[in-house]
Amino acid sequence: MPLKDDFSIDPADYERAGGFIAIANPNAPTGMALTRDQVEKIVASNPDSVVLIDEAYVDFGAESCVPLVEKYENLLVVMTFSKSRGLAGARLGFAIAQPGLIADLEKIKYSTNPYSVNRMTLAAGIASLARDDYNADNCRRVIATREASVKRLREMGFEVLPSQANFVFARKPGTDGGFLYRELKKRSVLVRHFDNPRIADFLRITIGTDEEMDVLFLKLREILES
Ligand SMILES: *Cc1c(COP(=O)(O)O)cnc(C)c1O
Repeated sequence: MPLKDDFSIDPADYERAGGFIAIANPNAPTGMALTRDQVEKIVASNPDSVVLIDEAYVDFGAESCVPLVEKYENLLVVMTFSKSRGLAGARLGFAIAQPGLIADLEKIKYSTNPYSVNRMTLAAGIASLARDDYNADNCRRVIATREASVKRLREMGFEVLPSQANFVFARKPGTDGGFLYRELKKRSVLVRHFDNPRIADFLRITIGTDEEMDVLFLKLREILES
């Protein structure tokens, strides 16, 4: 489903769409999110379809759809420990849905590889859940650095999409995104660039520490001034 001109999802595109519906919310690489009410309309209008909402980035400021699970048996919300819980590499995620959908997922799991999560990863996941305060602090830090970075990018003439994720998607009108990507890489700063024509102007910049963002801005200024 193509995004609208402003790179937002049009929920109307998904209403009564049928088939299997999967939406990353917040979306990638835009960072833009649908509200829970918008998702609810999609879920409610597709009672015969499984609607999967991928909330990999939800802890960085968007509304989770988990509260809708009690109401809709066709809603499957999935999350990961790789982002807001800082456990990328542990390969741990989870799904939240009504018992019927979960039973179907388990049937598939037990007919392929039941040992999908190892014990050390499980222990790390349980320890992480016990320290939600630590994870929430980290998310708050990322959000504060993101908002400061958006402001700095805009001051430098970048157009920045409204992100509710741990990255921002930005372009500088009149400057080639691939050029910026290559020049930053020469200076040991890695951002993402996509060749797809519609987004070739954009950089997806992951939010790091304040110090890392300072390096990014220093290098960006150097490139744009030369
Ligand atoms: C990171 C990510 C995931 C899950 O990543 P894993 O490391 O495989 O758990 C899922 N969806 C999106 C959109 C992501 O960015």
